[in-house]
Amino acid sequence: VIPLEEAKERVWGRVSALAPVKVPIREALGCVLAEDIIATEAIPPFDNTSVDGYAVRFADVEESPSELKVVGELRAGAWPEVAVGPGEAMRIMTGAPMPAGADAVVMVEDTEIGSDAATVRILRAVSKGESIRPVGDDVSPGDLVLVAGTVLGPAYLGLLAELGRIEVSAYRRLRVAVISTGDELVDDGRALAPGQIRESNGELICSLLSMANCEPVNYGIVADEEDVLGAALLRAASDCDAVITSGGVSMGDYDLVKVLLDRLGEMDWMQIAIRPAKPFAFGLLGPDRATPVFGLPGNPVSSMVSFELLARPALLKMMGHSAIERPKLRAIADKGVRRNRSDDRVNFVRVVATTGSDGRVHVATSGAQGSHQLAASAAANGLVRVDVSSEVEPGGEVDVILIGVPPGGL
Ligand code: AMP
Ligand code: MG
Repeated sequence: VIPLEEAKERVWGRVSALAPVKVPIREALGCVLAEDIIATEAIPPFDNTSVDGYAVRFADVEESPSELKVVGELRAGAWPEVAVGPGEAMRIMTGAPMPAGADAVVMVEDTEIGSDAATVRILRAVSKGESIRPVGDDVSPGDLVLVAGTVLGPAYLGLLAELGRIEVSAYRRLRVAVISTGDELVDDGRALAPGQIRESNGELICSLLSMANCEPVNYGIVADEEDVLGAALLRAASDCDAVITSGGVSMGDYDLVKVLLDRLGEMDWMQIAIRPAKPFAFGLLGPDRATPVFGLPGNPVSSMVSFELLARPALLKMMGHSAIERPKLRAIADKGVRRNRSDDRVNFVRVVATTGSDGRVHVATSGAQGSHQLAASAAANGLVRVDVSSEVEPGGEVDVILIGVPPGGL
C-alpha cells in the first residue's frame, strides 16, 4: 500500500504533453495555447466614436450652448469622405471612424435640433478627445498579447478573433476510450436477471471526461471474453489518445481485464492508502507501449474519486496544462467532518460546498460515504481530505478540493 503522493508521481510522471497542432479557434475552448501571440494589427484599428452623437471641433463647443452646421453622417463601417471644418459638426454612430478635423464627440442626448434642420444645437461643453476611442488603445502591433501556456477561455478566443487569428498552435482535446468490464453489468434498460446490476461508470466517466475538455469515446460494456476484450483494448489504444477501464483492478478479482492489460501493456498495479479508491492501475498500452491506460476501480464513487485525484490531472498534463490539480478553498465545516472508518487510509469525504450568508464557503458531507453509494455522492462538488487519526470538529476549518462548480457558482 503506497501513499497518494507516490501514486501521483507514478502516474503523472509517466505521461507527457502531446505535440501541439493547429487548432481552429472555434474548436479551441479550454485548450492550452502552444505559441506566443504577438499582435500584427492595432485594436481598435482606427480612431472611432464610443457614442451616437455629433463629431465636433472642441474649440467650437467650449462655450455652450452653441449651434453647428451638420455636414454629413457617418455610420459604423463607413469611411469619412469630408472633414469637419470650423462651425461644423457631423452626425456619427457608435463605432464609426472619426472624420478629419473633429476632435471630440457630443452624445446625441446632449444635443437638440437647431434653428433649422441642417443645424444642431450643442447643449453641453465637451472636453478635447471626449468619447473618442483612439487607435490601438487596447492593443498595438508588436504587443505580446497572449503567452504560450494560456488556457483559452471565452474572452481569449474573442481576443484572438479580434486579432484576425482563425487558428492557433494549441494542444488538442484528447480522445479517451472508456471501457466497462464485468459479467454482472447491464446497460440496455432490460429487466435485471438475478445477480445483475446496471452499468453506470460509462456515463459517469464520459461526463467527467467531457468536463475535463476531453472527447470521450464510450466503448460500453465489453464482454469478459479473451478475444473480445483483447481486441477492444487494442483498438482503443490505437484509435484513442488514452484508455480508461473501470472494474477488475482490485485484489482477488478474476476479471479478465487484469490478465489482458498485463499481456497487452506495461502495467503498474497500485494499492493506495486512500478511501475510497484504494486499487488503481496505470500503464502504457499497445504494441509500442504508447497509449496511457488508467484502470479505475469498479465501484462508482471510487471510479469518480480516482478519476479526480489521478486520471484527470494526468490527462490535463497530456493536454499541455501546467496547473493540473483542482483548486482548493478554505471552508468551514459547520457539523465537522468525520472519517468514514478508523483505518490507516486517508479519507476523501464527499461534501457539498456553498457560500454562507457570512460570505464564507461552508461544507457539509453529501451523505453516506460508501464507495457504492453514488446517490449519496451525486450532489457533491467538493472533496475534503481527512488524514489518518484526525477529524474535523464542528465549526472547524478545512481545505475543500473543488471537483465541480455549478454554473451559478458555489
Ligand atoms: P470491481 O472493481 O470489478 O471489483 O467492481 C467493484 C464493484 O463495482 C462491484 O460491485 C461491481 O459490480 C461494481 N462495478 C464494476 N463496474 C461497474 C460499472 N461499470 N458500473 C457500475 N458498477 C460497477
Ligand atoms: Mg468486476
